[in-house]
Amino acid sequence: MSLQKMLEEEARQKNISIDNLILSILTDHVKLNIHTVFQVSTSGALVAGVYDKEVTVGTLLEHGNFGLGTFAGLDGEMVVLDGHVYQAHGSGKVTEATGDAGAPFAVITEFTPDRSGTVTAVGSFADLEARCDAFRSSDNIFYALRLHGQFSRIKTRAVNPPAPGVALTEAAKSQSEFVFENVSGTLIGIWSPAFASEFSVQGYHFHFISDARDHGGHVLDVKADALDFQIEALTDYHLILPETEAYLKANLGRNIAAELDAAERGH
Ligand SMILES: [Zn+2]
Repeated sequence: MSLQKMLEEEARQKNISIDNLILSILTDHVKLNIHTVFQVSTSGALVAGVYDKEVTVGTLLEHGNFGLGTFAGLDGEMVVLDGHVYQAHGSGKVTEATGDAGAPFAVITEFTPDRSGTVTAVGSFADLEARCDAFRSSDNIFYALRLHGQFSRIKTRAVNPPAPGVALTEAAKSQSEFVFENVSGTLIGIWSPAFASEFSVQGYHFHFISDARDHGGHVLDVKADALDFQIEALTDYHLILPETEAYLKANLGRNIAAELDAAERGH
């Protein structure tokens, strides 16, 4: 049956016009995307060395305007903010990725904050975690967090592309680290529950992009006097699994949480 025929049939059954039917379908579609997060591949697959192009940046942006991830070949850190996708390279350079750039792993959502406020006296990553914890009402759902303001100090890292097949724990050893002082910018964060450690980065995972869009990366440490804070509860989790040979044949049965923690937190 053609789409037109299906619409006519459904409109007739519901006794409404086709225009009103399409409007109600679009309304449901928009509502669906609130509190919804899309993840491409799993953190375990990254740890196991599966980091080809699984999805394009253009496709990612169809699923949201806010998120984080990495690029094909582990070529830097991905920051998605206000519908723009930035690539923080291991060289320290930040560029805007084109729609056909590839990503092996990404988490993206249409950011729609439920709560906002200010966090103060952030002297370390642990402080940042504690301040954000105060806004979370549950340990059993996911959250998206956005913090903006002046950072007195921020330490980031960006991975450099390793040889094909090298595990993330090895690749993380060739990461570049950067310290920026007195820079204004945005933290893009995802918080994942402990039970998600098999496929996501457990706890807080923050990427940074400066207001000038010239500095960025995966956040290792942070200091700020006061930051504007926004948080959204995420209760609808979509996991998009790759169909590449590398993913389908990877051994993902082993426990990767410890390896991932070492790679993501740098300790
Ligand atoms: Zn990261």
